[in-house]
Amino acid sequence: MQIKLASRLSLLPPYLFAELDRLKREVQQSGVDVISLGIGDPDLPTPPYIVKACQQAAELPPNHRYPDYQGLERFREAACGWYKSRFGVVLDPRTEACALIGSKEGIANFPVAVVDPGDFVLIPDPGYPVFYSGCVFNGGQPYFMALRKENNFLPDLSEIPAEIARRAKLMWLNYPNNPTAATADETFFRRAIKFCLDNNIILAHDMAYSEIVFDGYRAPSVLEFDGARECAIEFHSLSKTYSMTGWRVGFAVGNARLVGALGTVKTNVDSGVFQAVQEAAIAGLTGPEDSLRQYCSIYQQRRDLMVEALRAIGLGCELPRATFYVWASVPRGYTSASFTERLLKETGVVITPGSGFGKSGEGYVRFALTVPNERLREAVERIKALRI
Ligand SMILES: *Cc1c(COP(=O)(O)O)cnc(C)c1O
Repeated sequence: MQIKLASRLSLLPPYLFAELDRLKREVQQSGVDVISLGIGDPDLPTPPYIVKACQQAAELPPNHRYPDYQGLERFREAACGWYKSRFGVVLDPRTEACALIGSKEGIANFPVAVVDPGDFVLIPDPGYPVFYSGCVFNGGQPYFMALRKENNFLPDLSEIPAEIARRAKLMWLNYPNNPTAATADETFFRRAIKFCLDNNIILAHDMAYSEIVFDGYRAPSVLEFDGARECAIEFHSLSKTYSMTGWRVGFAVGNARLVGALGTVKTNVDSGVFQAVQEAAIAGLTGPEDSLRQYCSIYQQRRDLMVEALRAIGLGCELPRATFYVWASVPRGYTSASFTERLLKETGVVITPGSGFGKSGEGYVRFALTVPNERLREAVERIKALRI
């Protein structure tokens, strides 16, 4: 028997981090105390009131059965209530909201509902890898929109050829952005909405980092702007906001037809979010905001430490207004990979090469501020001692 896998698997890029993983093990085995700033997974715990809500709900037998596909009505109401207070956007919980098993699930499944073979999908580069895999798994053709520093890491929509725009079905945006930590303002969102309406393109906005914000910054929802209800869907996650990456819960909101179509796909591939986890999410979305504010101030202190250290050794980087990442240029003479390798070998600090997020990520590296403060300080000290 010769097993032949589906050709769509061969469309995935080679695993760029394999070599880095090997090197990390080698450095670890040589006795170095490795500090990983590679993965964007919060070290801070889920706030206790959220954990408690799950514990209580887990004891109730009705919650042991198959959940409601779209999510509990109360969950959708909580999501929409949160939207109203957060963004001033009024949504109908019955038709304009759908629970997700983490937003990654929704992002991967959404193209099943809207992309036909041959359709172009406009994808930010560098970007979250699931935008690409969701596209090619469904026969879509990726068109990469470069995010460049001179354009504040926003795509230049005027660069998209008319022929591509005509054949495009879907555009992904993600602000606050992973990996660049950039934010988008009202002017950009209005322009993107107009571009999508003019070209009949569905606008999908990934807002996983909407609440990880600093210095009083407020990240806008695309749904705040005129015309968005006609063309847009927004993906939210509780993972980063409430330090709940392991729980797997998020939601999609926006245009009822798009949310409904995503729901139809999901009805056929999964059976919803464990209701005790939805109860935990409701507790988060309707609960006090002090722990969130405290978490943001922790990330903000870490950001300040890291940016100061990187600038001290001559690496260019912006001071991010959001996300728990710092996106820095590599020194002259290095590639993303060679600088990542040097940092690991000489300091034991693991970071992510920007090229792992797409071609336009070359020349950059991403630092994730997701280790306890003492470890971050240790990493910062080692980085400061580096002679570039
Ligand atoms: C973390 C992340 C997500 C996914 O989060 P879930 O845990 O699946 O909800 C989505 N988009 C971006 C850009 C992320 O960084």
